[in-house]
Amino acid sequence: MSSYDLLVVGSGLFGAIIAHEARAEGKTVLVVEKRDHIGGNCYTEEVDGIHVHKYGAHIFRTSDKSIWEYVEQFCEFNNFVNSPVANYKGELYNMPFNMNTFHALWGVVTPDEARAKIEEQRVACENPRNLEEHVLSLVGRDVYEKLVKGYTEKQWGKPCTELPPSIMRRIPLRMIYDNNYFNDRYQGIPIGGYTAVLEKMLEGCEVRLSTDYLADKEALDALASQVVYTGTLDSYFDYRFGPLEYRSLRFEHERLDVENYQGVAVMNFNDRETPYTRIIEHKHFEFGTQPTTVISREYPQEWTVGIEPFYPMEDAENRARFERYRELAEGEEKVRFGGRLGEYRYYDMQDTVKSALAKYAAWFGGNGVR
Ligand SMILES: Cc1cc2nc3c(=O)[nH]c(=O)nc-3n(C[C@H](O)[C@H](O)[C@H](O)COP(=O)(O)OP(=O)(O)OC[C@H]3O[C@@H](n4cnc5c(N)ncnc54)[C@H](O)[C@@H]3O)c2cc1C
Repeated sequence: MSSYDLLVVGSGLFGAIIAHEARAEGKTVLVVEKRDHIGGNCYTEEVDGIHVHKYGAHIFRTSDKSIWEYVEQFCEFNNFVNSPVANYKGELYNMPFNMNTFHALWGVVTPDEARAKIEEQRVACENPRNLEEHVLSLVGRDVYEKLVKGYTEKQWGKPCTELPPSIMRRIPLRMIYDNNYFNDRYQGIPIGGYTAVLEKMLEGCEVRLSTDYLADKEALDALASQVVYTGTLDSYFDYRFGPLEYRSLRFEHERLDVENYQGVAVMNFNDRETPYTRIIEHKHFEFGTQPTTVISREYPQEWTVGIEPFYPMEDAENRARFERYRELAEGEEKVRFGGRLGEYRYYDMQDTVKSALAKYAAWFGGNGVR
């Protein structure tokens, strides 16, 4: 006899929604989590009353009202709007590329003047062979040199001349004075931090932290009649076809005895020389007025098995390898796979919510997104 109806492996957003939906239907749920805290990459930790996004800045956004309302069951969102600033060797530019950026770059005032400037700078290229040629043909020299090149090269660890154009198919140029990074209808940060949201989702479930499912799979499987696994697919199958590759990040968190370090939540560092890509000042996500602050420097880094996987490598080789693992996964009787790691996809939180609700409905019945 199994002790639980459902075992959920991983307490990130995907696993927590699956667990919540199962509890809501009266199922008994055990959640195992290999980290020493819940929440996966959405986890926030409180320091001096500031909610520190330990795995990178997380801004919730969606244009889908049903997703927004679903998450609102667990929190109230504040009215944070992401308006990052790009720092190129001390010159500051608003992001995304909009009339404020073009004015700072060239002193232009009207959209027509900005368009003319971009046109004058574009380096025509019919079949760009690499990212540099592609971006130069879209936006010209200044935007490329100051705002794209260094940041992208740090992010991917390669010169733009060796990166495929597909990394940035489009570069949205906004011909209005508007620094709101996102185009979504709804945007905000949960008041009280993401961990509180995840705690609410997991209410009524038994949660075991610091428990690696794969290290004790047989015994844990025996505890439940169904399993949902949200870890990496390749590790589940013991890397039989080789590892699925990722790009990783390293964060350096620092508490400072200053009230306001950089005046904005997200500052990008777009030159090649600064080793980090961004500094996050967490208090600005929640309009904090504390006397101290916490900042995090974000360093892109190579990924190897064992370090935190962040961004899946979207190339043909890894996609093909993933398909082979997916076929194996389909053959598993008791275990189902989901989440950004189980599906080897970059999922924003809204995609994760949508996928978890749709998968729950497909696996166990229910309505999907409501
Ligand atoms: C740097 C960064 C910034 C982001 N910023 C945003 C943003 O601004 N807005 C947005 O919408 N989205 C953002 N996202 C995406 C967001 O983090 C994801 O959508 C979300 O975290 C996915 O949830 P998940 O449960 O699928 O995965 P995860 O959060 O990775 O959770 C998986 C959990 O499973 C656990 N686990 C894995 N293997 C095992 C095992 N063997 N045994 C037990 N437990 C295991 C892991 O420890 C982890 O806790 C960002 C992502 C990153 C990487």
